[in-house]
Amino acid sequence: MVDRILSELHQERIVAIAQHIIAIPSVTNAEHAMSDYTAQFLHNLGFSVTRLAVAESGDTIVATYGSGDQAVMLNFHLDTFDVFVGWESDPFIPVISGDRMYGLGAHDMKGGAACVLAIAEALVTSGVQLPGRVIISATSDEENWSRGAHVMLASNLLHGCVAALVPEPSNAGTLTIGQRGRHVFHVQFWEKPCMPPLAVASMLQQMRRDLLRPSKNLVQLIWDGATNLDSLGHVMSSVSRVAVL
Ligand SMILES: [Zn+2]
Repeated sequence: MVDRILSELHQERIVAIAQHIIAIPSVTNAEHAMSDYTAQFLHNLGFSVTRLAVAESGDTIVATYGSGDQAVMLNFHLDTFDVFVGWESDPFIPVISGDRMYGLGAHDMKGGAACVLAIAEALVTSGVQLPGRVIISATSDEENWSRGAHVMLASNLLHGCVAALVPEPSNAGTLTIGQRGRHVFHVQFWEKPCMPPLAVASMLQQMRRDLLRPSKNLVQLIWDGATNLDSLGHVMSSVSRVAVL
């Protein structure tokens, strides 16, 4: 059964899908086109597709194939980080150089998304009848607050799901068992209005270092600071996102 599915899975097809979806911009909270593409791709294969609305973001997609009480889920997220400085080429035009592909989100995680979509295609074209259901889910807002995942979990669409595989980047050739979890802090602090903006920025940087220190090797920090005046005239530094992974 596995051999029949794998015989329909070709590296060239995975690469082609990856190239296609990297060219669909899907920065967090602007994943709508990527949601549409994923829903249409899976619908065309014969999956039963449900779109779950996520406020101010693209829809989360949950698609099911086959029948049975139990299900296995393949999951990826639709969004990427924003375009930061340093790109030497258009981040939405994938470039293949040697055995690497460069493009926004190629690593995290449109490469993984392409693998999942290619597997869905191979499963259908193989004609294999599985003894249960396959759920393919694609969530929005993952790089922000993961609201798409929360909407999915609250939907009851994952009933009977006994295992899930998430092809997020990991060390080559390895699978990480389990989930390390995530803590998200919303931090606000106030200072006197005489405090110059640079000093506030310095405090933010110190906080960042302090948060990183306890488990330097395990922690990845998503940092988005903002500074403004509150209604009382104090300098208010609102750290809108501090996510410790
Ligand atoms: Zn990711």
